[in-house]
Amino acid sequence: MSRHQARKVMNRDPVCGKRVNRNKAHIAIEYRGREYLLCCPLCQAEFERNPEKHLR
Ligand SMILES: [Zn+2]
Repeated sequence: MSRHQARKVMNRDPVCGKRVNRNKAHIAIEYRGREYLLCCPLCQAEFERNPEKHLR
């Protein structure tokens, strides 16, 4: 498979800091035009509760 990407994808879980494989991520959330990968439901809930906190 090609490594070419049509658009930028964050491959790091912004909540826990773990590297997340896009195909294995729990979910991909789009926020402010960017896509963020969350590894599990807990990280998803935490990110949705306060996205800004995790984007610094
Ligand atoms: Zn996580």
